[in-house]
Amino acid sequence: MKRNAIHVVIIIVAVLGGWLLAQNLHQKQLELSPTRATLSKLPLGGFHKFLSDVEWMFFVNYLGSLNTVDGDNVKQVVSRLERLMSYDPNLSKIYQEGAAMISIADPVKTVEILDAACENPNLKSNSQIPFYAGFVMVQHMTPPNHKDAIRYFKMAIERSGGKDQGNAYYTSYYYRAKAKVLAGEKKLDDRHALLQVLFNEWDDAILNSRGDVPTSEYNSQDLKERLLLAVRNTKNPPEDYKPTAEAVKLADEITKKVFSDAHLCHSCATAYCPGDKFCGACGTEVIVYGLCPFCKEVLTPGAKFCVKTGQKL
Ligand SMILES: [Zn+2]
Ligand SMILES: [Zn+2]
Repeated sequence: MKRNAIHVVIIIVAVLGGWLLAQNLHQKQLELSPTRATLSKLPLGGFHKFLSDVEWMFFVNYLGSLNTVDGDNVKQVVSRLERLMSYDPNLSKIYQEGAAMISIADPVKTVEILDAACENPNLKSNSQIPFYAGFVMVQHMTPPNHKDAIRYFKMAIERSGGKDQGNAYYTSYYYRAKAKVLAGEKKLDDRHALLQVLFNEWDDAILNSRGDVPTSEYNSQDLKERLLLAVRNTKNPPEDYKPTAEAVKLADEITKKVFSDAHLCHSCATAYCPGDKFCGACGTEVIVYGLCPFCKEVLTPGAKFCVKTGQKL
């Protein structure tokens, strides 16, 4: 009798101890892998990844059976995507290929799915997911949401190399989304707004390099080239664009501040060569540069002495 009582106590202690250990391990596991909390609660015995691969094959098959994803079947496609995510939230195909299937029929849900993937630490080096979130916002939402898309484009640039190496395609979308927002706020046409945005970025970058003003991540050759193109589009506009007087004024200001050493024609912003008296693109008279101070001939590039008179330059 006494022996039985001891056995019961030992069993209770063992069960309690086992339960505490399991709780503790579970907690540690969650700390190691935070996305585990979103995994399917089905008793899959750790075969989530395997199951997600199988499920993906079924998903692709299922998509093949649909003519198109529309209002009628989008809920079905979404629930399959959600099931895939519950098996393996780190499977990037779900976001890069799967979410694309629903982006037209349900852009809001698409962004919701992509946003969760942006926050997933296991996918934090993936730049395509945030880019695609921004892309869906400006391309498929009605009306387009440029304001919130900016954050995703910025994230995509940072993940693809940041500062100077960031993907130029992402950068285009980033500047254009910013320009759309500014155009709405200040009632500017899109190209004028883009010129202003690029100039602001450049200005921030210059101030930042002096060390007294925070952040611009985008001080690069790429930015300068975009700015020059925008200046040219304003000074020498294509047929479908009539820039306002303010836009032209801004382009002149930028030419003075940013491209003073670039020898641009003041009328059309095309670069001209040493010794040129007129712009080759529009025929406007330009300020001649690159002449020898002694004989007024065009200098040989890099020469230390005048090649006509032998004088030291
Ligand atoms: Zn010109
Ligand atoms: Zn000379």
